[in-house]
Amino acid sequence: MNKLFLLFFYLIITYCVICQENNSSFDFYGKSNYQIEDSLKYTYSMILDDLTYLYANYSEWVHPVEVGKSEFGLELATIRIGYEKPKKCCVFIVGNIHAREDYSSKLVMKFLNVFLLNITNQDNTYPKAKQFLDSVDIYIMPVANPDGLKIAQLDFLGIEDSFNLYRDKILLIDTYQEWKANGKGIDLNATFNDGNHHLKHGGNFQSVPCSEGYKGLFPAEPKETQAIQNFIFKIKPLVTVSFHTKGNVIYWADKGTHKYFKEIDTKINKKVSIVSKLALTSISKYPKVYGCGLENYIRSKYHLIASCVELDSPNGGRIQSPDNEFNLRVWNKVFLAPYIYIENAILYKKEITEIAIH
Ligand SMILES: [Zn+2]
Repeated sequence: MNKLFLLFFYLIITYCVICQENNSSFDFYGKSNYQIEDSLKYTYSMILDDLTYLYANYSEWVHPVEVGKSEFGLELATIRIGYEKPKKCCVFIVGNIHAREDYSSKLVMKFLNVFLLNITNQDNTYPKAKQFLDSVDIYIMPVANPDGLKIAQLDFLGIEDSFNLYRDKILLIDTYQEWKANGKGIDLNATFNDGNHHLKHGGNFQSVPCSEGYKGLFPAEPKETQAIQNFIFKIKPLVTVSFHTKGNVIYWADKGTHKYFKEIDTKINKKVSIVSKLALTSISKYPKVYGCGLENYIRSKYHLIASCVELDSPNGGRIQSPDNEFNLRVWNKVFLAPYIYIENAILYKKEITEIAIH
């Protein structure tokens, strides 16, 4: 009798363990090949692990691409989604250029995973996902500022020795969790070489290395900026989308460059705005304020479409809203935004290619 009871007990426990394991992998609408953590802190090493998982599970569609390294030697991990042979035309999706804005890397990674589910017929959130790859490749860089992300998450493993060389020379505003710059205290999105570096003097301007607001001594000073600029030169994306996390708005046009785009920039960003309920800003007027962002650089240097998308509403502080509110605040609202940008890059491929400087 005792033996029978023990056997029964063992079977019940085994069943529960199996159920739990299955549940932990059924995170996205019950799909088993979904991997991305979307409600807890999502670290740089988790992102690298997830990229490795995605290479392994979607090797036909996911191709690693070398872009370069951060100041402290971390990989600017990037992948190309597409057929084995790279295509001439592409879209570029970037997250986490600002350290403390890790909703943006989470959005980019979740989009990547769900897009792959759609290519492989495991989900229908993005019905034309596979069809898109007949026209363009999609390059995805989830973390443009890995040193900064690690600092903002108090995750110093692997960068401690390098960071200690600079830490005391960098002005810290509030705490490390509010860090926005790269590891050497330069705001990467104030360093791109769009011809405005000498003018740039934004609202939170700092004249010395700082956790935010310092533009560096010369354009493209940080290694991250150089690597990304070289990459843009190589791939010349029809459309670039750089995700940030404050404001619920899209910065989509500058006074100095809007005229190049024959209203194609207006049409594309309006569609994204309607679908995602993110407001369009007015056309940015002053290079002193808008200059030297990745999006401004691409518009001015190559006459290609580039947008800066600010996810989430302002919360009165520097620190982003809690990780467990990501789905509510961001994903449920903005999950179609990258898809619409890709769809319209394809729709306007001919016109954008004609406008672009090659
Ligand atoms: Zn930002």
